[in-house]
Amino acid sequence: MNRARTESPEFLRMSLAAAMTLGFAPGAFYRGACLHCVNLLLTYASGCAAKCAYCGLSGSRKPAPEQDSFIRVPWPTISLNDIVAAIAKRKGQVARICISMLTNSRAARDTEIVCRRLREALPDIPVSLLISPTVAHREDLVAFREAGADKIGVAVDLATPELFDRYRGSGVGGPHKWDVYWECLAQALEIFGSGNAGSHFIVGMGETEHEMCDAMQRVSGMGGKTHLFSFFPEHASALEDRRSPPVAQYRRIQMARYLIDEGMAHVSNFAFAASGKITDFGIDQRLLERITESGEPFRTSGCTGRDGEVACNRPYANSRPGPRIRNYPFPPDASDIVRIQLQMGLASP
Ligand code: SF4
Repeated sequence: MNRARTESPEFLRMSLAAAMTLGFAPGAFYRGACLHCVNLLLTYASGCAAKCAYCGLSGSRKPAPEQDSFIRVPWPTISLNDIVAAIAKRKGQVARICISMLTNSRAARDTEIVCRRLREALPDIPVSLLISPTVAHREDLVAFREAGADKIGVAVDLATPELFDRYRGSGVGGPHKWDVYWECLAQALEIFGSGNAGSHFIVGMGETEHEMCDAMQRVSGMGGKTHLFSFFPEHASALEDRRSPPVAQYRRIQMARYLIDEGMAHVSNFAFAASGKITDFGIDQRLLERITESGEPFRTSGCTGRDGEVACNRPYANSRPGPRIRNYPFPPDASDIVRIQLQMGLASP
C-alpha cells in the first residue's frame, strides 16, 4: 500500500481495544470489559519528532515505524470514513472519541480537520483532544474548540521538571519543555473551562509519592483533573527494561488522586515518610476504608461522557489482562476489593 495515502487527516490509527470494539479486529475483553471511548491517533510517514524515552512512537525507537506499538499493542491504520461508519453503527456504546496528536508540524491543522469531521458526522458523541503543546499553540486551542472539541488532555506525564527534562527534553535530545506543557494546560483550562482539561501522569518514573501528589494537587488547583497511568515498559523503547512501580505505590497514588480531584483532601494535609511515601491521607481512617470499599479510586481516571461517568476507561492499557489490573475498566467486584485492601495494607491475608 502507498504509505503516503495512509496519512492523516484521511487516515488515523486506532487502539487495538477500539478496533476490537468497532469490528476492525477480532478478540474479546477479559472479564467482558466494554470500551466506551474510541482512542484515535494521527499518523504520518515522517512519524513523531519527539523522543520520549518511554514511548513506542518515539523517533529514537529501535524498530521501523511500521512496527510501532503504543501502550504495548499495535494500532491499526483505518480510514476516517470507515471509522465514522463503524462508530455510527455503535452509537449507544461509544460515549466519547479522543484524537491524540503526534509532535508533527501538520498535527494541529489535521487535529482540527478530523475533530470537525467527527463532530459533524456524529454530533451526539463528544470529542477530546490529547494535544502536543510543543506544536499546538493558543490559537490552535481556540480553533479546536470551534471545531467542536469539549475536553483537552495534556500529557505532562512526569511529576517533576528534572524527570520531564531527562525523559522528554534535553536528556533524550527531545523538543518538549516542562513550562510549555503547564502553560498549555493553563490555556486549555481558560479556553475550555474549569474541569474540561486535565493532565496525564505516569506513576513509576522515578518520582517520589510526595512529588506525584504535589503535581496532581497543582493540576487540581488550576481547575483540572488528573488521568493516571502505571508505567508499563514499551517494547524496544529506551525504557523497555524498566519495571512497573510496586502495586502498593500505585494504589496509594490512585487514592491520593481520587481524594484530591474529588476535593476531599489536600496534599498539605497528607503525611509522608522521609522517602516520600504517603503515610497518611489526612482523612479519618474509617472514611478511608469506606472509600476503598467503594472501589472508585481504582477505576480508570479519564475524560467523562455526557452522563458524567468516565468514558475513557482504556481496558488493560497499562497492565496485562488478568487479575493484576492496575486501572479497573469497570467497577471492581467484591473479590477485587479484597485484593485492593491487601495491596493497600488495609486487610490481613
Ligand atoms: S483521558 Fe482519555 S479521552 Fe481524555 S485526553 Fe486522555 S486519552 Fe483522551
